[in-house]
Amino acid sequence: MAKDFYSILGISKDTSPDDIRRAYRNLSKKWHPDKHKGEKEAEQKFKEINEAYEVLSHPEKKRMYDQFGTTGAPGEGSGSPFGGFDFSGFASGGFGNFSDIFEGVFGGDGRQSTAGRRTTPRELLLEIDFMESVTGVKKTFSLTRWRTCAACELITCSDCGGTGQVVRTAQSLFGVIQQSVLCRVCHGSGKVSRVSCSECKGEGRVQKREEVTVDIPAGIADGQTLRLRGEGDSAPHTQGSDDLFVTVRVEKDRRFKRDGDDIRSSTTLSVLDVLLGTEKSIETVHGTVELKVPAGTQPGQVFRLKGKGMPVLGTIRHGDQYVTVHVDIPKKLSRAERKLVEEWRDVGR
Ligand SMILES: [Zn+2]
Ligand SMILES: [Zn+2]
Repeated sequence: MAKDFYSILGISKDTSPDDIRRAYRNLSKKWHPDKHKGEKEAEQKFKEINEAYEVLSHPEKKRMYDQFGTTGAPGEGSGSPFGGFDFSGFASGGFGNFSDIFEGVFGGDGRQSTAGRRTTPRELLLEIDFMESVTGVKKTFSLTRWRTCAACELITCSDCGGTGQVVRTAQSLFGVIQQSVLCRVCHGSGKVSRVSCSECKGEGRVQKREEVTVDIPAGIADGQTLRLRGEGDSAPHTQGSDDLFVTVRVEKDRRFKRDGDDIRSSTTLSVLDVLLGTEKSIETVHGTVELKVPAGTQPGQVFRLKGKGMPVLGTIRHGDQYVTVHVDIPKKLSRAERKLVEEWRDVGR
């Protein structure tokens, strides 16, 4: 039977990546073999926690797991291409030992298997106001992230001879499998830092609080995500960094409502103005324009202001603005007004 990775980490299906990482960190600290020397149960527990995290922290693996209830993880018995594989050799080496095996099962996602990176993608939310989404805006924020340790002296990984890949032979139910997998020592980079580096204690990366600037393009819509190349975390012992994902939230505006590339707004006119026609100043995101309102305009009638809408992402084009006319009907008339309206009524008879 498949293991329930969610209950192992004590989380649910919609727990956020950050909270998954937090749950994992707490549990792996609690069950770390260093704290439970020689306790078989703790060792098993630690192994399970790592397995669960390897799957649930990886979007593609998590998707497969949610969909099929299996990932080919060790210990899942029949149905797993790795049934019968002996994993005991990897059990006590620290964190994340199983990821190379999962790469084998899933074929990796390119980015991971070539660069050997294994950080959890970072995603941030950034709020901007409506006008900033029209003009585009540069935003700077601080972010604590893992960066490659600059003090580290890199040497060739002896486990894989610098290739980043090792060939693993395993006895399975289907016979002997030979598989080239990511080197678990250098995580595929082919290089390791000397354990003696005092800056990072051999971790190969250090945590830094740094400023990141993101250029939000004009026309960005609420909920769109920008990918900032190399602005995310660095995996241990790798050069370069993963990408950072910034999801933009656009605040609502009380005057303008976005509708695709167009903008919708409304304006209120007096009865006399719609009867006789008028010119009305209309606010647009590109400044005020004069709208010619013809005589006989009806309540609910919509006027188009061409090219006054949102910038269309990546083009010089703009959408339009649509203005809906509301008519303000007076609730009270003065004596003089009433007299005039009555006269008007009598003209029509
Ligand atoms: Zn270092
Ligand atoms: Zn290696």
